[in-house]
Amino acid sequence: MTENTKPETVLHNSVGFDDISDSELLDIDLDLCTASLTRSDSHVTCCSTALSEDSKVSEMEGDSEDKFRKKRKQDKQSPLKRFNLRYLCVTDLCSQSWCEQQMVYGLEMPYLQQLEKAPEVELGASIHLAKELEVHDIVSVSVKTREDAWAVKLLNLLSMITVLQQGGRVRELPVFGVIEGIFLVGVIDELHYSPKGELELCELKTRSQPSVPGVAQKRSHHLQVSVYKLLFDSMVKGQLKQGSLPQYLCLKTETALGSQVLEHARKLGLNVSSFGDLLELAFLNLRFSDIPAIDSLKIEYCYQANNSPLGEDIVHFDEQQVTRELHFYSMYWIGEREAQGVDIEDAWKCRYCDFADVCEWRMRRAGNTIWKQRTKRAK
Ligand code: SF4
Repeated sequence: MTENTKPETVLHNSVGFDDISDSELLDIDLDLCTASLTRSDSHVTCCSTALSEDSKVSEMEGDSEDKFRKKRKQDKQSPLKRFNLRYLCVTDLCSQSWCEQQMVYGLEMPYLQQLEKAPEVELGASIHLAKELEVHDIVSVSVKTREDAWAVKLLNLLSMITVLQQGGRVRELPVFGVIEGIFLVGVIDELHYSPKGELELCELKTRSQPSVPGVAQKRSHHLQVSVYKLLFDSMVKGQLKQGSLPQYLCLKTETALGSQVLEHARKLGLNVSSFGDLLELAFLNLRFSDIPAIDSLKIEYCYQANNSPLGEDIVHFDEQQVTRELHFYSMYWIGEREAQGVDIEDAWKCRYCDFADVCEWRMRRAGNTIWKQRTKRAK
């Protein structure tokens, strides 16, 4: 299969289950830097909303003893349970690496975050879409259940496995897996084979400024692609267990697939009727594919205004370092430690943070003169 053909069709959910487009989230410029969890799994969104509504009611009416009791009980739960999250997106971890406290405030007080979708993010997304359309067409599919939504990801994965096996290039490849006991989900921007035949991951970051990002943002980007490699490698090496999806995501394998999902499965030549059938097929294909692990990780930066390249980073994959980092982040999610704000060397991030006025971490350090200087907000 040559790269000039458009060999596959990628299915996009059309009714609100599109939850994993990681491409642009971390590529916002400094003045827009506010961590946010990407969620549109309807269940999770509902729960987050309920949480913020609770807080508003408390402010308006005063907390009753019942509410205090409820809050105390909630606080004892792990953040994963408290925020009702079945899984995390890879970009959630990247937000966490920027400032964990900011990420938590984003969940607890989303109404304090900038509501407008930044034009830069939209422009970046359109550049990604154009790139995606170079390699495949996109078709909208109506999904009725969460199982349907995951079936769409599996169908995309199956068609991309075929392309990779034939030496082709794929974009927006879904990856998922369990790391440190937490289910993680992401989307790899691009995978292709280098002239040497090595499998290369390429992440495109568009910038509204004609410059590459600073060290702190690059650190997040490096974490992002390193976690993608961990997830992808575990999938193609057969280390990810088929039962993980039903177990972590509470998906029912016996659920019948919706008519549009079935139609597209048939177009791919797949004879399936339930989510479990498709899951089994996807895992069989992964297990018996001869797709190698990812050999190299690259991040490309380009200027949004004219699409000109700004530079590229070849990321050194340090498994021990990434694993240590992920272990540290997971400790927060499973309730083994409290959320932390930034260290003093990163105190400048507070100047651009939507939660600076309410941040207890920042206030607790307000007596420190160096901290005060570094977090002083521009008038
Ligand atoms: Fe993090 Fe600083 Fe924002 Fe607090 S004010 S959430 S420490 S960036």
